[in-house]
Amino acid sequence: PLVLGIETSCDETGVGIVRGHTLLADAVASSVEEHARFGGVVPEVASRAHLEAMVPTIQRACDTAGVSLTDVDAIAVTHGPGLAGALLVGVASAKALALSLGKPIYGVNHLAAHVAVDQLEHGPLPEPCLALLVSGGHSSLLKVTDITGYDGGVDPLGATIDDAAGEAFDKVARLLGLPFPGGPHIDRVAREGDQVAIDFPRGLTGRRDLERHRFDFSFSGLKTAVARWVEARERSGEPVPVADVAASFQEAVCDVLVRKALDAASSEGIEDLMIGGGVAANSRLRALAEERAAQLGIRVRVPRPGLCTDNGAMVAALGATMVERGRTPSPLDLPADSSLPVTEVLAG
Ligand code: ATP
Ligand code: MG
Ligand code: FE
Repeated sequence: PLVLGIETSCDETGVGIVRGHTLLADAVASSVEEHARFGGVVPEVASRAHLEAMVPTIQRACDTAGVSLTDVDAIAVTHGPGLAGALLVGVASAKALALSLGKPIYGVNHLAAHVAVDQLEHGPLPEPCLALLVSGGHSSLLKVTDITGYDGGVDPLGATIDDAAGEAFDKVARLLGLPFPGGPHIDRVAREGDQVAIDFPRGLTGRRDLERHRFDFSFSGLKTAVARWVEARERSGEPVPVADVAASFQEAVCDVLVRKALDAASSEGIEDLMIGGGVAANSRLRALAEERAAQLGIRVRVPRPGLCTDNGAMVAALGATMVERGRTPSPLDLPADSSLPVTEVLAG
């Protein structure tokens, strides 16, 4: 099926077009520059930017794909989770398209789309697979037996109990004086640093913690440890070795993510690990996962960095899977749901 997907959950206006598992277009307009001086995404600014970018981004996607809107078989849209006002722009636009074209609409979960997108690069998702979902607002380990969410197909084994991994990257970048969003900057600066220079804490990996939180994450203690370390340096009048701090912090995050993801896969007897979400773009996370998984005979799938961060293609990919599996389209009055749980993949 030819599916057009719309993504507006945060600051990226994404419109993707796929034919089955083939990516035809992935147009993204970001308002990130408008938020940078505030050090975080400003919801009202994001909503307005989506309104302005929507029509031109749809046009650009159609031009790139060489299709016209009337060729499209179905519309998919992120209906949650995310910023309420931002989601509404996408949902309203998708409804308008579906209604005027007389085509079905699929309201899908942004987090499941971060997983489904890998099909565009590496073919059908192995099911079951273990998905490590690491993004700006979420960090979870999911057992995926059906990415459309059918019959409990997306089952959370664990999640962060405080900050998301991407949030930790952004906060630590900020205290190191790096621009927003900080993940890519930490990734870049860390290449010049020593990852064993500073021994930062690995959250929820102690024996007692593992009893209750084996597959959960915690990054707020790490963020505080980095802040304390930097403050102590500044007080002593010595320069802060930014590259070493970045590399050591990044190592602490990636070490825990990979350790717990592989532990979960092994304990479930699952041989395929998928990593998705913006933090999956991190070069150290990708390398460490490959290295350790190979030792256990576990295969790793990570989309290319451009498909890890928010985009419309991921929404189209999940929409195409809904069509292929004969799932019932969403009602035309589907709502936006800012706090949609990861288990609810398709709006019913
Ligand atoms: P969610 O998907 O939870 O709703 P989101 O959509 O805002 O959150 P994504 O776009 O999926 O988030 O991911 C953005 C996050 O990914 C940011 O926190 C950003 O710093 C982080 N990120 C992007 N690239 C990298 C990288 N190379 N290394 C580490 N983090 C990165
Ligand atoms: Mg973004
Ligand atoms: Fe996201």
